[in-house]
Amino acid sequence: MKFTPEEMITAMQNDDTSYDGKFFVCVKTTSIYCLPSCKAKLPKPENVVFLESREQAIVAGFRGCKRCRSEFYPNTEPAWLEPVLRTIRLSHSRKLAEQALADVAGVDISTIRRYFKSYRNTTPMAYHRRIRLQYAHTLLQNGADYLTAAYESGFESPSGFRDAYVRHYGYPPGKTDGH
Ligand SMILES: [Zn+2]
Repeated sequence: MKFTPEEMITAMQNDDTSYDGKFFVCVKTTSIYCLPSCKAKLPKPENVVFLESREQAIVAGFRGCKRCRSEFYPNTEPAWLEPVLRTIRLSHSRKLAEQALADVAGVDISTIRRYFKSYRNTTPMAYHRRIRLQYAHTLLQNGADYLTAAYESGFESPSGFRDAYVRHYGYPPGKTDGH
């Protein structure tokens, strides 16, 4: 370790971003590892172990912090997220199997679900449904009829489309002045 404990404690207390990635703050009481700059509640120095690398923290049984996203530093997002989001957006007019997302991501579907839950407060499939409903909404605004909008956004039944649409927009499809 290239820093003294005093220096690391000071960096942690000052939320000093210049130390991010240079060491990790592992909190024994929560089993979470943080970046030095994490804005979460400051742990007591006696509950902290400083480790040089994320790998060491993981091996020691610590989990990434949702607040400072220590799991993904220096990237704020995992590498597989972009292809997953692109696949979801491009699938605005059809149903999508969750496994297709795991395939493009090259990670387990549970990893994708966990990421969406933690960082986006939704599920991949709920996000996909929202994209389809937004597409249907655009079609309706452009003059498409209700059944066409349902079909073109990948809904198999008009009633299923209507229910999902009402839940999302708060008014039935076709009502452009719903607000
Ligand atoms: Zn943190």
